[in-house]
Amino acid sequence: MSAPPAAAPTAVAALESELVELLGEKNVSSELRVRERASVDGSRMSPIIAEQLPLGVADLVAFPTTAEEIGLAVAAAVRHGVGVTPRGKGTGNYGQAIPMPGGLVLDVSRARAVVEVGEGWVTAEAGAPMVALERAAHATGQQLWMYPSTAQSSIGGFLAGGSGGTGSIAHGANHMGFVQALDVVHATGSAELVHVEDAEADLYVHNYGTAGVIARATVRLEPLQEWRGVYASFPDAASAFSVVRPLGRLDPLPRLASADGPVITAALPEDQAFVPGRASLRVIADLATVEEVTAIVEAAGGRVEDVREGAQTALTISMLSYNHPIEWLQKSAPGVYFHLEVGGDALVDRLGEVEAVFEGGLLHIEAGHTTPIGMLAGVYQSPEQVYAGIAALGELGVGVHDPHQWNVDFQLARTVEVARRTDPDGLLNPGKLNPDYAGPTKGAIIR
Ligand SMILES: Cc1cc2nc3c(=O)[nH]c(=O)nc-3n(C[C@H](O)[C@H](O)[C@H](O)COP(=O)(O)OP(=O)(O)OC[C@H]3O[C@@H](n4cnc5c(N)ncnc54)[C@H](O)[C@@H]3O)c2cc1C
Repeated sequence: MSAPPAAAPTAVAALESELVELLGEKNVSSELRVRERASVDGSRMSPIIAEQLPLGVADLVAFPTTAEEIGLAVAAAVRHGVGVTPRGKGTGNYGQAIPMPGGLVLDVSRARAVVEVGEGWVTAEAGAPMVALERAAHATGQQLWMYPSTAQSSIGGFLAGGSGGTGSIAHGANHMGFVQALDVVHATGSAELVHVEDAEADLYVHNYGTAGVIARATVRLEPLQEWRGVYASFPDAASAFSVVRPLGRLDPLPRLASADGPVITAALPEDQAFVPGRASLRVIADLATVEEVTAIVEAAGGRVEDVREGAQTALTISMLSYNHPIEWLQKSAPGVYFHLEVGGDALVDRLGEVEAVFEGGLLHIEAGHTTPIGMLAGVYQSPEQVYAGIAALGELGVGVHDPHQWNVDFQLARTVEVARRTDPDGLLNPGKLNPDYAGPTKGAIIR
């Protein structure tokens, strides 16, 4: 795969002048410090990507403050032939927000207005943090369908780069059905915000902005439920993981159910509900199911350590889900662990074999929409070791998503087709949409 071409310095300089006119001096920067800060994301979690950094550094950074300014900035960059890498909070895991050939990083985090909340929906500008959307929903007796464990991240970045989190047991991953409408900007030189709804809006989801830049989004809300945070402990990982499937069948469903064995639990921030030497389970459970959750926990040999109330509890539990326990594990032993995103019943049914695929294998698990999903950590040796392990996991019936590469791997052919029309010159997030990307995994892909 050849690297995408860099923009000509004269084109970048001309674009900078035009952006200063459009957005004001304080919203455009070519300072090295700002450009470097805008060119990193959460991909340091991957030792394979970390070894290749820096993958690219922006030539220019712009900070539009409204949806309309996002349109103006994209149009200007396209007219000057400069590539545009959109950016929310830069928490994505795979280097998707790194501007491979330089060019313009369009940091939309200052376009953050929550525009309107209606019955069953909220409209916000692309840079609005997920926590702000959830807060606005609560004020009207509603809640988001889903939000990621990086709750401070942006709605645009979550839709373009994320896949699920709190709420995904009920609604699944990959945002399908979550997005009601988007206003997107195409790379055609026009600043028009193109309004798309439902299935047409899904064409812009999880493809890293390569089909269009999201300027504004309308996502679904549901009636607010009374949640409780249930913390439990178990003698070992196997007994903690055994309750994830029954919890995922409760009625009403939990918003989240996450479990870790004793080693990962010990790496989490201190909490009296985390008992040294024991595995941990955290559940955001509907109040009506707390007794049932307790019965499920006790039948599996566990005990409930605490039941907590309040919106902050749900947020705290969310921020210990998905990739966060792995991040804490990595912080506790710097430079030791890598991870893979995994899924399937084998995570519970063949736990010993799954963890044994990698030296020091440790699984973090979540209740999923249909089957459990999780993060498998192991001691990092080499890319070859990781890819051999992916093949071995496939043989165990484990689905894998590879977080060590930045290519669009969800609905690739569909995005290539859309981008032919919406980005004819390949200027949107250059380097991420590669039609020949075949996927490194030999297992079933979980996306
Ligand atoms: C510890 C940890 C835990 C995580 N947990 C989760 C989780 O539970 N669920 C989950 O889904 N993800 C998770 N992630 C990944 C990431 O944090 C989320 O997907 C997050 O929502 C991304 O939002 P962001 O604003 O940081 O996007 P960024 O990282 O800035 O961008 C992500 C991608 O979207 C593109 N993009 C950004 N804004 C736009 C826009 N307006 N229009 C078009 N494209 C755009 C970027 O170019 C990039 O390709 C986790 C990451 C870490 C490090």
